[in-house]
Amino acid sequence: MDEFEKTLTGQQAAIEAERCLYCHEAPCQNACPAHVPIPEFILSIRTGNLHGARVLLQSAHPLIETCGRICPEEGFCQSVCTRAKIDKPVCIRELHRFVTDATDPADGLVLPPAVSGTVAVVGGGPAGLACMRELRCLGFTCDLFEQRSVGGVPGQEVSQMRYPRTAEERETRHLTSLFASHVYAERVTDIASLRGRYDAVFVATGLALEVELRIDGTELAGVWHARDLLRKMKSGSLSGTGRRVGVIGGGNVAVEIASMLREEDQTRDVIIVYRRGIKELRAFRKEIDEATALGVTYQFLAVPDRIVGEGCVHGLEVTQARLCEEDESGRCRFEPLPGSHFTIPLDTVVIAVGQRADDGVFPGLGRRSGGFIDVGEDMQTNIAGIFAGGDAVHGAQTVVEAVADGKKAAEFIAAYVAGGRR
Ligand SMILES: Cc1cc2nc3c(=O)[nH]c(=O)nc-3n(C[C@H](O)[C@H](O)[C@H](O)COP(=O)(O)OP(=O)(O)OC[C@H]3O[C@@H](n4cnc5c(N)ncnc54)[C@H](O)[C@@H]3O)c2cc1C
Ligand code: SF4
Repeated sequence: MDEFEKTLTGQQAAIEAERCLYCHEAPCQNACPAHVPIPEFILSIRTGNLHGARVLLQSAHPLIETCGRICPEEGFCQSVCTRAKIDKPVCIRELHRFVTDATDPADGLVLPPAVSGTVAVVGGGPAGLACMRELRCLGFTCDLFEQRSVGGVPGQEVSQMRYPRTAEERETRHLTSLFASHVYAERVTDIASLRGRYDAVFVATGLALEVELRIDGTELAGVWHARDLLRKMKSGSLSGTGRRVGVIGGGNVAVEIASMLREEDQTRDVIIVYRRGIKELRAFRKEIDEATALGVTYQFLAVPDRIVGEGCVHGLEVTQARLCEEDESGRCRFEPLPGSHFTIPLDTVVIAVGQRADDGVFPGLGRRSGGFIDVGEDMQTNIAGIFAGGDAVHGAQTVVEAVADGKKAAEFIAAYVAGGRR
């Protein structure tokens, strides 16, 4: 599968690096949750020192291959680039990606002896991997427990057009071979007994479940939950089904599955059915543009009433809506227009209306409303020595925010263990 975006050539990267203004107290660096030293790494590109650029990137950010490709830079570093006041922001993420593709992940890394303590990391997504790498760099022995495949959501669910297997494998191979003592391919359920075997535990299990859509017809053959379908398609265990697919939702997951289905079969009709308007879509702009370029279409202002069919899906009945005043989040509310039902003929319906934490796992662990794990300022849960971070704590975020959380947790865990509170 071809990638949407190509890596910059050496010449393009050199020209782009020339555009950086090397601002005092670089706003881009402050806006990057991982605090990548952006002006410094761009200067290294400019001087042709790509190895130095990688070392700078890698020292701040354990998942540079992933973020070089799928970080929503328009919401972070590039959103505050001073260069935008002259013409347009420096393409920081693309430079970031250029460095990862031009250099070797293992370049020049020297690790200290692993004598500081032992930590179990539960969940091999961005938060868990970042925490593991930081702890190993601080001299800890880390065991990783992962129920599916190391890499978390980016590896398991993000389309190969945006994040190809080659980049993913390069990253996870590097992280597990250097920073994990053992990788256990297992689902952890008993967190308390794990705590007994390690000096500390970091729980970064993400959002395992999908929000249900409470309408009739969800039991029909041809109805899928988006992340389940994404995982099956990405692992190759299932090709997307149906000729006429309706994806219910307006977030990144809806756009991701719509793009993947369309990319798999360009003759398939894929329509995103959303109850608000185009401005209210919650997906990243770039992803919406890519989906649209692939031929995904939209039915805005349509509120799903029921999935119709006999045994299998025949269509989705919706009510036309209109937009009203803005809510507290700044998005317009919608109001269904009575008597305006219509049916969209479909043979497959994909539900992509949200993700949620699995609050049935890890009994005894304190939770907030919504099932998210409750942590204190030191990222510790109600059970001493068990820390948590990433989406499992904050709800749906981004890779770079999960990375920042994993890094922060490593510092708290190191301080906890050093304080003798094992
Ligand atoms: C479809 C989709 C597309 C996205 N696209 C982007 C994007 O383009 N850019 C971006 O920045 N962000 C994107 N995100 C968000 C981003 O992927 C997440 O914010 C990020 O992965 C969260 O990292 P995490 O480590 O907290 O959790 P996760 O990535 O969810 O990792 C958690 C890991 O824990 C494992 N696990 C769960 N329970 C257990 C258990 N009991 N025992 C052992 N292992 C367990 C899971 O298998 C998983 O590997 C996307 C999210 C989705 C769903
Ligand atoms: S990780 Fe994201 S926010 Fe940070 S420098 Fe890279 S592209 Fe920018």
